[in-house]
Amino acid sequence: MAKAVVDKTDGQPQPVNKNGVPLFKQSVTERDRELDNEVVYEFQGPVGVCAMMLGFPSLMYYFWVCLEYHQGKLITPSSFSLEGLSQFFWQELWAKIKVGAYPTALAVKIYMGYVLFSFILAYIMPGPVVEGLALPSLKGKKLKYLCNGLSAWYATLVTAAVVHITGIFRLTLIIDNFGGIMTTAILWGFTMTTLVYICSVINGTQHRMSGNFFYDYFMGAVLNPRIGHVDLKMWAETRVPWPVLFFLSVSCALKQYELKGFVSGPIAFMVLAHFLYVNACQKGEECIPTSWDIFYEKDGFMLIFWNMAGVPFTYCYASIYLMKYELTTGQTITHSLPYTVGLFVTLLAAYYIFDTGNSQKNRFRMEQNGSFMVRNAFPQLPYGHIKNPSYIKTEHGNLLLTDGWWGVVRKPHYTADLIMAMSWGLITGFGSFLPYFYFCFFVFVLTHRVSRDMNRCAKKYGKDWDRYCERVPYIFIPYVF
Ligand code: NDP
Repeated sequence: MAKAVVDKTDGQPQPVNKNGVPLFKQSVTERDRELDNEVVYEFQGPVGVCAMMLGFPSLMYYFWVCLEYHQGKLITPSSFSLEGLSQFFWQELWAKIKVGAYPTALAVKIYMGYVLFSFILAYIMPGPVVEGLALPSLKGKKLKYLCNGLSAWYATLVTAAVVHITGIFRLTLIIDNFGGIMTTAILWGFTMTTLVYICSVINGTQHRMSGNFFYDYFMGAVLNPRIGHVDLKMWAETRVPWPVLFFLSVSCALKQYELKGFVSGPIAFMVLAHFLYVNACQKGEECIPTSWDIFYEKDGFMLIFWNMAGVPFTYCYASIYLMKYELTTGQTITHSLPYTVGLFVTLLAAYYIFDTGNSQKNRFRMEQNGSFMVRNAFPQLPYGHIKNPSYIKTEHGNLLLTDGWWGVVRKPHYTADLIMAMSWGLITGFGSFLPYFYFCFFVFVLTHRVSRDMNRCAKKYGKDWDRYCERVPYIFIPYVF
């Protein structure tokens, strides 16, 4: 029997699926249209986004110098006089970047080769077709998404193994050319943002424009850019950042094996951590078309740069630190067995909550949307799909899940994601801040995302949202926050 707690009914019988979830023929409401068109200056507006567009790449280069030449130590000018600052900038940073992070022909071939390869796979590989949510900007139309992430991912893994083993392309070249590949990714992030922006202006597909060029460049102009049937936003979100991150770690592991004849616990940990993440994105790709990024966020610098360059080349610091430390000192970072095992257990436990948490909510929403499908993508974890869940029905028509992990806190998947991020830092020990950069940055990203999301949901669901917050009062940790 369904545990559904229906706070508001219109007295009409409603069709339910065999799991007890009401099917909701979604139509776009006037409120949805208003929210979809509302321009709100995020990130302190144009000044804030300009600072981020300059600051992100600069910070990436600064961190790169620290990792590449100083074993992850954060370097500072010897003096803060004009002369000291100029010497620091030109000699300590620029001279090294110019040589070590130059986008050589090989670096461009490696990065752009992968980008092109992943795009071709997104175009041709088989997979189920899933409908997204009804879009207010398209008068309620639902776009179709070919979810071939899993077949493309397996094809990528097989191809990588073949080219490495046959010697056509040794994967260790990735870590050997890290600086140049990062620069290529940064340049491509700006190039792709510009191309998508220009095309949307030419095609007249701009949406929710603020009128300030810099802000619109950052947030994006177009909502759903496509080449043929490939949705560029979804492709960029799943197919580039996470596989590149994974192959960076694999490259470190292979390099260590070549040099030392073994793979250390911490590096094996990072390969596993990145494998779990990339695999989760591909195996659950059919859940992405109904997500906030696809439904609401536009395709601008924020998403494009971050996916093409930011995620792979900053979330990898734990692996890069372990490798560069070994290359420059000759010493391998290892820990006691209980510490290492403890972190493996923490990673796997957090991954379990992350995977099943995302799965519980996304499957629930897909059931309601009528787009639920059974997939046997590895691994299917128990508790990823709740039978006869409890929920709150909103006046809007959408249901808010209050069962499983979603009955415990409002953002269980964020908490789990943060624990995983912390474990990526802890596995490197305490020799450098840089492996913890991802965790610190992620705290900022997720808390900012939570406040944006909560504001949006409060406007969208009104008093139903208040009732939901009363039912599930804590956001991240029960009885704490
Ligand atoms: P969520 O999965 O939290 O999606 C938010 C939306 O879900 C809300 O706007 C609302 O949409 C709906 N919703 C919220 N609560 C409920 C509920 N109880 N029942 C049903 N629907 C609900 O957001 P994200 O897309 O930010 O996160 C997805 C995953 O991606 C997370 O695991 C996150 O950690 C990860 N992530 C990782 C990043 C990284 O850089 N590593 C960056 C960002 C996210 P509606 O208005 O349609 O009801």
